[in-house]
Amino acid sequence: MATTITINPSTGEKIAEYNRITINEAKEKITQSKKTFDSWKQKNFEERAQLMHKLAAILEGNKEEYAQLATREMGKTIGQSRKEIEKCALVCRYYADHSKELLADEIVKTEATKSYVTFKPIGVILAVMPWNFPFYQVIRFAVPALMAGNTGVLKHASNVQGCAFALEDAFVKSGFPTGTFTNLNIDSKLVKDIIENKNIMAVTLTGSEPAGRSVASIAGQNLKKTVMELGGSDAYIILDDVDMEEATDMATLGRLQNNGQTCIAAKRFVVLDEIYDEFLALFTKKMKAAKMGEPTDETTYYGPMARTDLRDQLHEQVLKTVAQGGRLVLGGEIPDRNGAYYPATILADLEPGMEGFDNELFGPVASVIRAKDDAHAVELANNSVFGLGSGVFTGNKERGERLALQLEAGSSFVNKLVVSDPRLPFGGIKNSGYGRELAAYGIREFVNTKTIWIN
Ligand code: NAP
Repeated sequence: MATTITINPSTGEKIAEYNRITINEAKEKITQSKKTFDSWKQKNFEERAQLMHKLAAILEGNKEEYAQLATREMGKTIGQSRKEIEKCALVCRYYADHSKELLADEIVKTEATKSYVTFKPIGVILAVMPWNFPFYQVIRFAVPALMAGNTGVLKHASNVQGCAFALEDAFVKSGFPTGTFTNLNIDSKLVKDIIENKNIMAVTLTGSEPAGRSVASIAGQNLKKTVMELGGSDAYIILDDVDMEEATDMATLGRLQNNGQTCIAAKRFVVLDEIYDEFLALFTKKMKAAKMGEPTDETTYYGPMARTDLRDQLHEQVLKTVAQGGRLVLGGEIPDRNGAYYPATILADLEPGMEGFDNELFGPVASVIRAKDDAHAVELANNSVFGLGSGVFTGNKERGERLALQLEAGSSFVNKLVVSDPRLPFGGIKNSGYGRELAAYGIREFVNTKTIWIN
């Protein structure tokens, strides 16, 4: 029987082995999910919200256990894992309290006696999810989808299968009927068959660009709606009026949090010429001082990457950038220790055409780019196939806002690292994907926006 093996990226040791289900078993679970949908969609918002509040309480009540599991499976520092679980509970409560108003009928004045738009659930939604926020990414899809009256099936990343089962268990313990949220421990090769299943009505994927292209094209062939949350190589513009201490603190945190593996993380720092050398010197000092280590150690700033193959791939990208003329200022060597560790690394003087400029570096590696002036900084920032989250650091909020509005990205923040917030939409443009999660926009992705006309 095929299995999924999870490995602790800090030690390289095996954690657990899970039997994969067959395609027929997966189909049975989808049939059950469809049956559950037929009754779940009849429940009112208050009934669904009650279970969602219970889920929030269960997540919080088991915070330490879930956080330790996430850290063990993908190497996130323990403090950040705890925050991830807290954020999951926040999203549960947000949608428990607001779904009714977010999906309220919209009266439209026409010549009809009554005409309005109503939002109806569509059925079973498939979610293909990544490992980098093993609880939060799933919650971000599942909570609004379920509150809208849909049911969900999950194909989670293989290396965080323990988190996938823990989430399924949390939904069951909260009292959600069997089949409302189901983990499918399948090989990604079976995703095609799952999408083709007649009971799957839509697909959401968070992950890499290649996975997104594959899943979106299969769904397209089957005329099934998709939401794609893909990679990013987001630019943060550092202007010459910035508070340098603050900007370099943010840059260090932005590049190293989640061990450098956040889709919306600052990856390319576009710095104005006048302050370029000063920024690079202070940023290098802070990146060098950040402590790499065992992720369960509370004093660790950043831990290992999630898998050794991903670490090796990142290292190849660093070497390629240097061969193309990029300047290696810090790091860039695989440490002599067990696990998937990679040191904080800085590549400077990058230009379009270099690997570190053009592609996503999904790990603790920063690209630093010199810009002549504000307009040039925007041009360099927008010179990317991605457009997820970007930022501007400046002492002048109006100047920051002016530039933020010109950045091609789903989110642009001034003087703050981009974060997702349940009250605001989250998603990308260009190769970072399409569709939105969170807020009203997210919960309306997987509904039938239905017109009612009464003469
Ligand atoms: P990944 O390799 O694309 O994996 C993501 C999920 O897709 C996993 O469940 C994986 O299963 C599955 N998968 C991979 N190839 C597939 C295929 N051809 N068909 C169907 N399913 C497939 O991505 P990752 O390395 O886990 O995550 C890193 C990427 O995700 C980065 O590019 C990052 O920027 C992006 N990301 C984006 C967001 C966002 O909100 N925009 C958030 C987080 C991460 P297996 O594990 O079994 O291979």
